[in-house]
Amino acid sequence: MKLTNKVAVVTGGNSGIGFGIAEALKNEGAKGAITGRNQATLDSALKELGDGFIGIKGDVTNLDDLENMFKTTDERFGKIDTLVVNAGGIVDGQPMAGINEVTEDNYDLYMDLNLKSTYFSVKKALPFLNDGASIILIGSTAAHRAAPGMTIYAAAKAAVVSLAKGLSLDLLSRRIRVNTLSPGSIDTPVFGKIVPEEQLASVKQLWVNQIPIGRMGSPVDMGKAAAFLASDDSAFIVGTELISDGGMTNIS
Ligand code: NDP
Repeated sequence: MKLTNKVAVVTGGNSGIGFGIAEALKNEGAKGAITGRNQATLDSALKELGDGFIGIKGDVTNLDDLENMFKTTDERFGKIDTLVVNAGGIVDGQPMAGINEVTEDNYDLYMDLNLKSTYFSVKKALPFLNDGASIILIGSTAAHRAAPGMTIYAAAKAAVVSLAKGLSLDLLSRRIRVNTLSPGSIDTPVFGKIVPEEQLASVKQLWVNQIPIGRMGSPVDMGKAAAFLASDDSAFIVGTELISDGGMTNIS
């Protein structure tokens, strides 16, 4: 157990990658909080996680909600050792789109959810973090591989990689490490939100065909990578990007 009694917060820990990460941190001995807006999925995730975790409802694009997430965790468990800034991805009711369809609102909403909320998650957490904490920002291989209709999301995630580098310098005096974990295609509920049910299996097969290792990633894969970045095993890894994508980014 590499995180015994460490306090963790995983934003968006009620679904997909965030839940896989919360489970992995818990398996290494951590306790703490998962966050999300949806109370029903928070409740069912907490039921699966069992004792040691609480759910905190909040929207990561709201700065007061962010502050409340970290303050509540500190009040319940003490200062935070691991912050996983995972909430993000698709904006509700706003499909990703190409340049002809994107409006100013759509642009702002994607940047707010995937970039601004990442920066302010770190800023709002700072008073509640232990010195020597590990911060893991969830990026995406979309930052490295262009895909139709994903330009703004991809640009936001590329900027997240840059945030980890800059924030590492900002936080050096407190020995807080900031790294990005960039997933490739990971099998999570997000795909059910963007692909019609009847096409899901064939679309997933098309993705698998592009992944050298021959399968999509899982939330468990992401959990293991995040647990490594959270633990002292990665003590000398600062401001870098760990890509976990089955080799997908390496092929043209
Ligand atoms: P899911 O849709 O399963 O999870 C998204 C999570 O973010 C949910 O917990 C959701 O909770 C939370 N969330 C979304 N918007 C907000 C908001 N405004 N405020 C608070 N919480 C919010 O997706 P994934 O697990 O696939 O994605 C997780 C992260 O991984 C995202 O950052 C995504 O960009 C990234 N990623 C995913 C990849 C994949 O292939 N799946 C690939 C690369 C990166 P709730 O709805 O309750 O608010």
